[in-house]
Amino acid sequence: MPVALITGITGQDGAYLARLLLGKGYRVVGLLRRSASSDVIGERLRWLGVLDQVELVDGDLIDLASLIRVLQKVRPDEIYNLAAQSFVATSWHQPLLTSEVTGLGAARMLEAIRITESAARFYQASSSEMYGLIQEPSQSEKTPFYPRSPYAVAKLYAHWMTVNYRESFGLHASSGILFNHESPLRGIEFVTRKITDGVARIKLGLARDLSLGNLDAKRDWGHARDYVHAMWLMLQQDKPDDYVIATGRTTSIREFCRIAFSYAGLNYEDHVVSRSDLLRPAEVDVLLGDASKARGALGWQPETSLEEMVAEMIEADLVRHGAARRG
Ligand code: NDP
Ligand code: GDP
Repeated sequence: MPVALITGITGQDGAYLARLLLGKGYRVVGLLRRSASSDVIGERLRWLGVLDQVELVDGDLIDLASLIRVLQKVRPDEIYNLAAQSFVATSWHQPLLTSEVTGLGAARMLEAIRITESAARFYQASSSEMYGLIQEPSQSEKTPFYPRSPYAVAKLYAHWMTVNYRESFGLHASSGILFNHESPLRGIEFVTRKITDGVARIKLGLARDLSLGNLDAKRDWGHARDYVHAMWLMLQQDKPDDYVIATGRTTSIREFCRIAFSYAGLNYEDHVVSRSDLLRPAEVDVLLGDASKARGALGWQPETSLEEMVAEMIEADLVRHGAARRG
């Protein structure tokens, strides 16, 4: 039975990836950092019905010794490094923590692999945020990077360390440059989930307005369920490599609002307010991914449309708030 170690298993992608790998017959082990809120940490895994099928081991990307111990104990065949301080806005408030976890955390895991002489294949969760101030209208693996936040700078460091360890030490290390991907399990601080949560609250009469920042930014949004499949495909290749994963469609926040509110029979213009205090110090105005390489080499393509994903997210938020109201 192949063994997979997932860092960030309690996050959105970790939960979907755990479910995918369990379905493929893997033993799935997740790295779990210490939290005082241990009753809620498995919420996403529970939502997908797999909490009792994964093994959780103590460890933290800040603590190299814990990573070495985990690798010695678990002896994984595949390591998916998904853990990060993953929220761009927070990275301006906590730039050093973001560098420690999102940047150096990946280097620590690569070092742990080297030190333990593990033959595990390694996946690094890189990000389209690395393109930042875009240098080409459509971004591929060949597009130069221009990070625009401490988060993106940290991700870029982790990306190049992955490439460097592959080239220096022959590690089977791949980097997935994933464009934004969402789901009902997306953190509530991200704009898509903030919007679908807001739509559900307004629909149920629990709120009247929704405050957002920049409505004109554009993102290439896919579904996390489709994107974790691409991660797995990368580690099944004979040779490690880097791949852009994206839908090839870009949509503004304003248009996302229109789609989401109209799904619930509402007009976004009656409810959405744009507030200047929610603008960012530096913005990534537009992202649009070119996933031709992944399509050709991995046979990967997105399965879920933006409209289908929005509907799924709103339905889940209606259930959550409906249940909360009854409770
Ligand atoms: P989440 O924010 O949902 O999950 C982050 C995970 O990292 C959580 O499990 C969190 O644990 C864990 N974590 C944070 N700090 C540490 C630490 N010091 N040690 C160990 N674990 C830690 O992210 P997503 O699932 O959305 O994303 C997965 C990865 O992909 C991230 O690296 C993200 O930056 C990257 N990415 C995401 C994209 C997206 O659109 N979703 C796009 C491109 C890249 P806890 O539950 O305890 O907080
Ligand atoms: P990011 O691409 O990883 O930063 O994902 P987010 O979902 O956090 O943000 C996507 C875009 O939405 C960015 O350009 C934000 O400036 C914009 N945005 C507009 N209003 C909001 C808001 O209220 N919250 C968040 N998170 N983003 C917002």
